[in-house]
Amino acid sequence: MVKYKWDDKVIDKRLKALMLKYGQAKTEEEDTAILCEIDALENILDFINPQELLFPAKNKDKKSTLLKVIDEKYNYYKFFYHKIYFLKKDIKKFLKLARENKYDFADLPIIKFSNSDLVTFVHDFYQDLSPYFYKKFMKEFKNHNTNLYFDEDYYGGHVHYLPYSKEDFIIVGKTHTIFDYMTIAHEYGHATSAKINPHYRYQGDGLFKEFDTIFIEMLANDYYRKITKDDTNFLLYRAMRHNDYILSSKSVCDVFKLIKLKESLVDNHKLKKFYRHSNLPELEFDEELYALGYILAIELYHLYQKDKEQALNVLKNIISYKPKTSQEYYDKIKSYGLIPNKHLEIYQTNLERQLVKSKVQKL
Ligand SMILES: [Zn+2]
Repeated sequence: MVKYKWDDKVIDKRLKALMLKYGQAKTEEEDTAILCEIDALENILDFINPQELLFPAKNKDKKSTLLKVIDEKYNYYKFFYHKIYFLKKDIKKFLKLARENKYDFADLPIIKFSNSDLVTFVHDFYQDLSPYFYKKFMKEFKNHNTNLYFDEDYYGGHVHYLPYSKEDFIIVGKTHTIFDYMTIAHEYGHATSAKINPHYRYQGDGLFKEFDTIFIEMLANDYYRKITKDDTNFLLYRAMRHNDYILSSKSVCDVFKLIKLKESLVDNHKLKKFYRHSNLPELEFDEELYALGYILAIELYHLYQKDKEQALNVLKNIISYKPKTSQEYYDKIKSYGLIPNKHLEIYQTNLERQLVKSKVQKL
């Protein structure tokens, strides 16, 4: 297998071997894990050799198309959003208090580094973080020669989880900016948390699975800033991320609003007007995970500034906790002192002050 690329023949061989195993396992649980892994391997094959998407024929009637799109969005989100209604207040408050800044992704300069630089960085960062997290991280990192994939055309990163082999296949998209350093830390964050608790990414309706990784990104940012003494790029990245999460929160609030409007049977004209002026046409998936993740990560980051050991202990406890419902999980997280939006003002004032101090200019 070529380093940091996946070979479809190797994956296909794994898939076929697993298909023979399916139905033969000793327990139902094992069989389910095999089936999930077959699905994941098929997704990986799809990723290596993408099939062309077949778009449905374009509808000639523009007016009915927009209403149809709105209907589809509503039907897609309504069930899940009714489940996460208890988050609405905190996300709305975040949106009210958060201040956007003038920086964006285009401000990050292209820098030269190799894939090995990224691999070395993520290893050294976890080694520096704590013995406990490093040990869990290494359980995944030892497979990096075969399970890590750098992709020039992918934006962000992704983890394919193989529940039977208990391995992660990690994709890191390349932008050739420090974004890539944060992406690899983030994706290994997912893999490390899965080594602490394999159920973490699914439990509590999967709502909290971006919280730990957004926090890890913050620490990776500080770590690498310290190593390189390059304040400009890393502060720019944090500023850009701050804007990203404000956008996520806006999208989440817009979905809540859409559901409210649809269920109050508002007339079509008003519905379309709201839709056009909302974030909904651009809506990415899973925005609620990022909005919530950031709100909680800010609080844990604040604790980390005061007491590193305690903050990492809280993180470990949150990942290890096995809740029955997402509401129970949320209450548990709050019981560790992570109160949504409590330190948002301090966080953004510090960020703004640091940006001024390091004279980060719009390039
Ligand atoms: Zn993630």
